[in-house]
Amino acid sequence: MMQDVLVIGSGPAGLAIAAALCHQNLKVHGLAPTGPSIPWSTTYGIWVDELEALGLPDVLSHRWPDCVSYFSERERPLHREYGFLDQAKLQQHWLQQCDSITWHQGLADTIEHTENSSTVTTQAGEQFSAKLIIDATGHEPAFIQRPAKDNVAYQAAYGIFAQFSRPPIQPGRCVLMDYRNGHLPSEDRSKSPTFLYAMDLGNDIYFLEETSLASHPAIPFEMLKDRLYQRLMASQIEVLEIQREEHCLFPMNLTLPDFKQRVVGFGGAASMVHPATGYMVGALLRRAPILAEAVAIAMQSSTPSQLSQVAWQALWPSERLRKHYIYSFGLEALMRFNHPQLCCLFNAFFQLPRCQWSGFLADSLATPDLLAAMVNMFGKVPNSVRGGLIRTLGTDGHLLWESLRS
Ligand SMILES: Cc1cc2nc3c(=O)[nH]c(=O)nc-3n(C[C@H](O)[C@H](O)[C@H](O)COP(=O)(O)OP(=O)(O)OC[C@H]3O[C@@H](n4cnc5c(N)ncnc54)[C@H](O)[C@@H]3O)c2cc1C
Repeated sequence: MMQDVLVIGSGPAGLAIAAALCHQNLKVHGLAPTGPSIPWSTTYGIWVDELEALGLPDVLSHRWPDCVSYFSERERPLHREYGFLDQAKLQQHWLQQCDSITWHQGLADTIEHTENSSTVTTQAGEQFSAKLIIDATGHEPAFIQRPAKDNVAYQAAYGIFAQFSRPPIQPGRCVLMDYRNGHLPSEDRSKSPTFLYAMDLGNDIYFLEETSLASHPAIPFEMLKDRLYQRLMASQIEVLEIQREEHCLFPMNLTLPDFKQRVVGFGGAASMVHPATGYMVGALLRRAPILAEAVAIAMQSSTPSQLSQVAWQALWPSERLRKHYIYSFGLEALMRFNHPQLCCLFNAFFQLPRCQWSGFLADSLATPDLLAAMVNMFGKVPNSVRGGLIRTLGTDGHLLWESLRS
């Protein structure tokens, strides 16, 4: 029987959109190399109020009301609760809504479109057809086409879940960004800024990750690992036992997909990572129901080509495009800053009213409010940073122009 939608991929994006499509009573099947309940290896962080705003059941493994950052020697409390998603709970939350889906195991290899449907063939030669194909295969998607870009910026991080000779951060706490770098040789301090992202996980286990927010080319894992150990050595903290390592590398500023293509993307495949922060899971939770509803409304009355257009439009309406270009401009500015400038910028950012900085991070501000937040921050930064922002207007002002045109 021909299905309405084939979802390819069972990462967070695949499960989020599959669940939302089922909620709309569409006939959906899924295709992924492993079963959809196989645990993910990535640790996903999110602000607790983002989940609460969605009325989700508790899908967190840890939460930290005590969350701080350091952009100088002075500690900056953020007064906002941060959490780690419990992957199994989140998977179950989505899978419970997917009870009508059949998941097939295989790797999507080729695709063919006819007037009435699209057919995906797996590497093993199996074929699956549907009126709409949603590619949720991550940052290097199976089918989604996008204009090439030669200076893609990557977020990179090297982390360990480990026991230490003594607590590497204050027990019970989450350190979102520790940009202090006095432990580095002076010649390394202003180049390739990296920060520590760290949490107390309980039972004497801490997660510590040396992170590069965005860089082109990506900062190598070896350098991040060296910096993490330099940080620990400077505080005379030894690693006693490593439970698990995490290597994190993903693109922050892929170009937007070609919105005329028949296959529709979701998640990393559709460039949904927040270009200025790297977060995406909250966006998946917020945007999957919107996309699914648009698909459900158009399913019966549209041809497959029209359906794809409706879906892309629902995923990337003008308002969202405008904000995407503004964030992308912000990312270019961030990447041009040296360590002291970056610290000044973040200091000013977290001095904004909380509704502004949290709305910026969650991409929940309307465009005029986003611009107001940026202007407000411009007023708070020192001249050295203001000059950097103005220079970015010269080099990457076209992104703001794209925003106006969207
Ligand atoms: C280490 C790391 C840490 C991150 N931390 C956070 C965080 O804390 N918070 C946050 O919001 N974001 C975070 N991100 C960013 C982003 O949320 C993740 O990259 C997220 O996993 C992307 O989800 P996705 O479902 O689009 O892709 P993926 O998670 O990559 O899932 C892709 C799926 O497609 C399947 N697949 C791939 N190719 C094929 C094929 N040809 N045929 C069939 N199936 C295929 C894969 O097996 C997988 O099931 C992190 C990213 C990384 C890499």
